[in-house]
Amino acid sequence: MTIVAQALRAAAARIDRFDAEVLLAVALGVDRGALLLAPERRFSPELFDSHVARREAGEPVAYITGHREFWSLDLLVTPAVLIPRPDSETLIEAALATGISPVSILDLGTGSGALLLAALSEWPAATGLGIDASAAALAVAGRNAERLGLAGRAAFRPGNWGQGLTGRFDLILCNPPYVETGAELAADVRDHEPASALFAGPEGLDDYRRLMPQLPALLAPGGIAVIEIGWTQAAAVLTLAAAAGLVGVVRRDLAGRDRCVVLRHANALLQGA
Ligand code: GLN
Repeated sequence: MTIVAQALRAAAARIDRFDAEVLLAVALGVDRGALLLAPERRFSPELFDSHVARREAGEPVAYITGHREFWSLDLLVTPAVLIPRPDSETLIEAALATGISPVSILDLGTGSGALLLAALSEWPAATGLGIDASAAALAVAGRNAERLGLAGRAAFRPGNWGQGLTGRFDLILCNPPYVETGAELAADVRDHEPASALFAGPEGLDDYRRLMPQLPALLAPGGIAVIEIGWTQAAAVLTLAAAAGLVGVVRRDLAGRDRCVVLRHANALLQGA
């Protein structure tokens, strides 16, 4: 047996203190607040020790606990999906800020389902479709929809971006891979998160080149597409969008960095739509 306060002190010499608290809380099946209120509690350390060893070896906390919060939703995550980032909440904020009330929502490259499920939680009258190339990711997204009580409004299908889709959508969300192949990423990202969700060719633009030409036919009249970008990519992505007949504005994240573009049909502006 070991004591909470001692175990945390020992773990904090090996991994981040906050991570240690989260991992111990999960190992004991309590929330972090309750854990910190019981520093003298005794427990048998095997599970916590294995969590700490995994974190020390670089595995992200979210893959150890199997959970990550996004837009205040508790999401399941596995190594088959990118861990949702707070940065990506910028896309939901950007969509809300446009004032649209989407009835149909498409999430291309849905991963854990984070963007689609956050949007469905904001617009209770909407239904959504999540597309992903990975069957393992779609399984995670489907479980998340069920757990959040959103399965009745969310469908998930395998696909290659928008290829072959026939519907039109009021809101299209997408967080494609956009990291330059060969870029130096933090080891926990590089060694544990799915490369297919991160890397997109020498400039990180390969998937925007595939996506942009597909978007106009998928947007309903008055619809918008909110697409995540790397913080240096706004001009290049807006150029690709313009070539596809889309115009847009850039939105920044909380760190003040360009984080997404909000796109519409260029001719929608002329028509006042
Ligand atoms: N923002 C992620 C990172 O920095 C990249 C996500 C992506 O490529 N869509 O690791």
